[in-house]
Amino acid sequence: MAGGTADRRRPGAVGSAERPLRVAIAGSGPAAFYAAESLFRRKGLAVRVDVFERLPTPYGLVRYGVAPDHENIRKVTSTYEQTAARPGFRFFGNVELGRDVSVDDLRGLYDQVVYAVGAASDRRLGIPGEELAGSISSAAFVGWYTGHPDWRDLNPDLSVERAAVFGIGNVALDVTRILLRDPEELARTDIADYAVEALRESRVREVHLIGRRGVAQAAFSPKEIEELGSLSGVDLVVDRRQVRLSDTELVGIERGTARRKTIEYLKAKSEGGEGTSPRKIRLRFLASPVDILGEGGRVIGVRIEKNELARDDEGVTRARGTGETEVLDAGLVCRAIGYRGVPIPGVPFDEARGIIPNKGGQVVGKDGHPVPRQYVVGWAKRGPSGLIGTNRACSIRTVDRMVEELTTDPGPEGSDAPGRSDVVVLLRARGVRWVTFDDWKLLDGIERERGKADGRPRRKVLGVEDQLKVITQASGAGCSSRDPGSPSARRSW
Ligand code: NAP
Repeated sequence: MAGGTADRRRPGAVGSAERPLRVAIAGSGPAAFYAAESLFRRKGLAVRVDVFERLPTPYGLVRYGVAPDHENIRKVTSTYEQTAARPGFRFFGNVELGRDVSVDDLRGLYDQVVYAVGAASDRRLGIPGEELAGSISSAAFVGWYTGHPDWRDLNPDLSVERAAVFGIGNVALDVTRILLRDPEELARTDIADYAVEALRESRVREVHLIGRRGVAQAAFSPKEIEELGSLSGVDLVVDRRQVRLSDTELVGIERGTARRKTIEYLKAKSEGGEGTSPRKIRLRFLASPVDILGEGGRVIGVRIEKNELARDDEGVTRARGTGETEVLDAGLVCRAIGYRGVPIPGVPFDEARGIIPNKGGQVVGKDGHPVPRQYVVGWAKRGPSGLIGTNRACSIRTVDRMVEELTTDPGPEGSDAPGRSDVVVLLRARGVRWVTFDDWKLLDGIERERGKADGRPRRKVLGVEDQLKVITQASGAGCSSRDPGSPSARRSW
């Protein structure tokens, strides 16, 4: 086992008690915390982990991606708190890679660097009209309702009656649910205050939810589609011809599997016809958008093309346009067709896949050779797929490789050379105002307290400036969650 080899580390070697391994992790979502935890758990390996996060708050998509009405999923952060409490862990929030610290800084200061930067952008449809007002990405809409500082000003036009959502993954289902769920139910969640106000005023009554392939290829999970089908005041309308599959079409989809359950659920749902509820989700398979139609610069509809299924040379079932088109009324279009990584200057990037190219988590360069001491985890490593827990195994595999490298190539002698200083020195010299994990815990406590009065799990403080202000005030009031004398509790700015 790669982890066990660290036991034999000679005194003074990188990873020994005298000279712990120094690791920087860029990003603070689930993959980052699982990587940190896996490092701490390696037997005989002494390690210090510094996590850098652009925002003042940790947890990435757990805070700014998981839908507000999925509070249970967010409870996973209690595990991350345990990691953060380990000696040797430090959080540097409000520190942006490329702005406050460079990749070269990290390479100079740490033995190994792990990129856990996720997939911050979104895939494009590449069709006319995508830039019209009223055409938004799921990254933007999800960021808006979760209160992500980048998307507070999105201001989606909810004065329209019909919306179209493209893609039928779990994100598309989240977007559709938030558009149509009773705002009073959402008001009891940690949704951004401005979003629940806007949703209270919303006139959206109907959402076309459109997948390019068939029901048997749908990307959503059974639990998520069943939740959509049981929203109060909303009918999930499905054309029974699209979900009644022939025996040939069902070949290979075993009874009892998630896919088969979904098909059976939707078949039963389709029997309900139009239903009588005031709001409708029109779930439609085998159609792709070909043109977003506008008037005066705003979306007024979308032209879709009906598809048929065909197997490609590798046996993958793909959608193929039939040439038959149809126009749907929609004043709001949301593409929820997947996320995409954003390149980091100085780090290799695979443009076609939108990820950092790697072999088992070790970054590889253009020549295909591993780049020493550079690693990647999570969506930046494998693309935007999988549930939160998927990242655990993914991060462990990367850490296996990191430990392996340490054993076979412990790094240049310069690892111990004077001049290798602590990042704190550099941040102070640059006047960077960073947020420690204790600072975050203050903000976390305040948000939870603010939510209590309304029976909500938390009321988020919105915007970076306000978050920093609240932390400053709270720390001034002496409500630090740790002994103020301990190094980790000291104010960093
Ligand atoms: P996803 O699961 O990959 O779904 C993307 C959807 O977009 C698919 O239906 C895909 O269709 C479609 N699509 C892609 N390119 C398209 C194009 N050019 N035109 C039309 N449709 C296109 O991605 P996601 O929904 O963004 O979710 C990302 C990951 O997060 C997933 O693993 C998901 O399960 C997870 N997640 C989980 C939850 C939850 O557990 N509650 C919530 C949110 C997200 P094809 O299948 O035909 O490619």
